[in-house]
Amino acid sequence: MRSRSRLTGFFRLGIAERRARLLEACGLPARRLEAIDPGALPLEVADGMIENVIGEYALPFAVAVNFVVDGVDVLVPMVVEEPSIVAAASNAARFARPGGFTTEASAPVMIGQIQIIDVADVDAAVAALRAQAATLLEDARRLVPRLANRGGGPVGFDVRILARPPGPDGGVLVAHLHVDCRDAMGANLVNTLCEALADRVASIAGGRPGLRILSNLTDGRTITVRCKIEENDAEVRAAVASASRFAELDPYRATTHNKGIMNGVDAVLVATGQDWRAVEAGAHAFAARSGAYRPLATWKDEDGALVGELHMPLAVGTVGGALHSHPSARFALEMAGIVPEGLHPSPPAEPAGSPPRFRHADRLAAVAAAAGIATNYAALRALATEGIQRGHMSLHARGVARAAGATGDLVERVAAELSACGDVKPDRAREVLARLKESP
Ligand code: NAD
Repeated sequence: MRSRSRLTGFFRLGIAERRARLLEACGLPARRLEAIDPGALPLEVADGMIENVIGEYALPFAVAVNFVVDGVDVLVPMVVEEPSIVAAASNAARFARPGGFTTEASAPVMIGQIQIIDVADVDAAVAALRAQAATLLEDARRLVPRLANRGGGPVGFDVRILARPPGPDGGVLVAHLHVDCRDAMGANLVNTLCEALADRVASIAGGRPGLRILSNLTDGRTITVRCKIEENDAEVRAAVASASRFAELDPYRATTHNKGIMNGVDAVLVATGQDWRAVEAGAHAFAARSGAYRPLATWKDEDGALVGELHMPLAVGTVGGALHSHPSARFALEMAGIVPEGLHPSPPAEPAGSPPRFRHADRLAAVAAAAGIATNYAALRALATEGIQRGHMSLHARGVARAAGATGDLVERVAAELSACGDVKPDRAREVLARLKESP
């Protein structure tokens, strides 16, 4: 599928022209745009998605341009209510375009938790569970044969002590089942597996089963995205790197820094029908994993360029969830070239033991993460350089005032007026100078 993301002047076009240009760039047939027309989600389908439906709630669907992710042009779908995010992402992607965004995804491994309470001897229980880990894993794999055929399925089992008796819940353990979910986000898959294993796990531990549900701290399913932005102005490079260090030093700043990342990530997640609450919860828990809340992305000033790196958990799926029912989410995946048009993505099963191959969900995570680092860069640059630009602008305004004939204290007064109205031009300078001379 063709997908050219460098759509110059896209923002200046009207909606109809943008739609035509988008189709040309992504190679989809015109009828696919019906998936993002007003009313695209039939009310009866909405009624089947959640409870107590009384209507629908619309948001703008936009495309961020200029993105190159892992060497491939991508049109990035974004659904968000906040102005400037799409423009910021597109601008940053243009700066990053020479090298593009490069990503590395871990295997898509989710964690299922089985809580075991009222364990009399927690150490003996841990030893017993570890001794049975291989058998438990094998049995768990048999419960999801199709996932195993796709190269996924349960891949690890471990247990941790949470509390020793006595206590309100006696001895408490938690067993972690690690499941490679391939292209699925995996919440339902993992929950079902934990349900199926809970009684046996509790019985081996000599306790009672408690909760069994996935953890949204998906630190086994992460993505790293990097980019390099050439920046000739050393002052700007230093200011962005310093803003990044500020976030590393201060959780109050790190929270806002990470919000800027989630501006891009969430807009892609909403457009593609993902569980963005799950990703948000995981991202912030991951940011605080050292005990202090830290930035998910950092920027360094290296050899005349700003080098950014974002590392975060990103559990997304290109099968299951809302994708079963939401036409706009499927369109977003097609437009971005993540899944082929018309085909609800279900790649062919992989023989057990085959080497990992490119997965659709990895690509979606890569695109969402690229959008995240892009909006992070745009925000940092704007914040960090505001002062520098103001300085440059007032210098320039003084120059223009002098060129218009201002001398003495009139230089400052003309320059101040030019900067205040944002029109730093010779004609305007002459006008202002004439007026100030007439009535000083
Ligand atoms: P799902 O229940 O639709 O399961 C995915 C299905 O896709 C599986 O049956 C699997 O066999 C099949 N499949 C087809 N092709 C596949 C491929 N290539 N790779 C992997 N599986 C493939 O969806 P899910 O991903 O298990 O669950 C996601 C949903 O669960 C989301 O809607 C989420 O909001 C919800 N959820 C989240 C939480 C949480 O985050 N705490 C809790 C409960 C439910």
